[in-house]
Amino acid sequence: MKQQSYVGRFAPSPSGLLHYGSLVTATASYLQAKHNDGQWLLRIEDIDPPREISGATDDILFTLERFEFEWDQAPLYQSTRLEQYRSVINNLVRLDQVYACSCSRKDLANDIQKSELGKRYPGTCANKKLDTTDASFNLRLRTENKNITFQDATYGEIAHNLFKEIGDIIVYRKFDIPSYALAVTVDDAYQGITEVVRGFDLLAFTPVQIYLSQQIQLPIPRFLHIPIIVNERGQKLSKQTGAAAVAIRNRSTVLIQALNDLGQLVPKKLESEPIKQIWSWAIKHWNVDNIPKTKQIYMS
Ligand code: GLU
Repeated sequence: MKQQSYVGRFAPSPSGLLHYGSLVTATASYLQAKHNDGQWLLRIEDIDPPREISGATDDILFTLERFEFEWDQAPLYQSTRLEQYRSVINNLVRLDQVYACSCSRKDLANDIQKSELGKRYPGTCANKKLDTTDASFNLRLRTENKNITFQDATYGEIAHNLFKEIGDIIVYRKFDIPSYALAVTVDDAYQGITEVVRGFDLLAFTPVQIYLSQQIQLPIPRFLHIPIIVNERGQKLSKQTGAAAVAIRNRSTVLIQALNDLGQLVPKKLESEPIKQIWSWAIKHWNVDNIPKTKQIYMS
């Protein structure tokens, strides 16, 4: 059997239908995996039920199918992994790397410094030894005063000092909801992901994933971030900014547009070809160096 060393993934949250920005991310991660003879996995990030839209998961999978993406295993649903996240946290609690925090947003409102990573938690509860089994508390991971540095395939070297910029990080939210950071970190390792391809909006978050991987002693994948697609007002396409679901009519045109936005030099004749031919051209000619190194791309 052929050794498959590259494993990539697309990890949509079912908080809305698949919009054009997500299609571009899916396309980049798919092509990067397939061009490298790798596997491409799907993960449905459904751990935040209040933000989910009923039917969104089915719609996302249906749209990906119509665009003829081929995933190599059944999708992994994060909602089936809650026990695993909990057990990782319990270990960190035992090592005193994670502590309970009773601060509300209101408590912190006056006390907060802001950085590129968000608001800094000043460590109010770090030594209070509050009950970590009390579900009304958030759980925070202690951070260290050191730079976390990594090499992004598009944007080059990125460094953040988590302790100075955001302080101790929430890894479990009250009422038993694992944080995005925890679930992504644990599952990228569980699925054996070798390279994470995702939008620029998560670039500054990546040192958190790296730090968490170090604390849990998990392998650290490589990272390739791509520009995000924005509307004419410069806002990221999302449910909140009213992005439309990707149209499954004119699929070839939409896929060609995604390839163009990713800087690929698509030959004119491909425009009238069926999806299958477009994929086979794109897998063969995918060139990661052509991805624009800008933060965002205006949707045309
Ligand atoms: N689930 C996240 C989203 O839909 C993406 C997470 C990731 O790619 O790491 O924005």
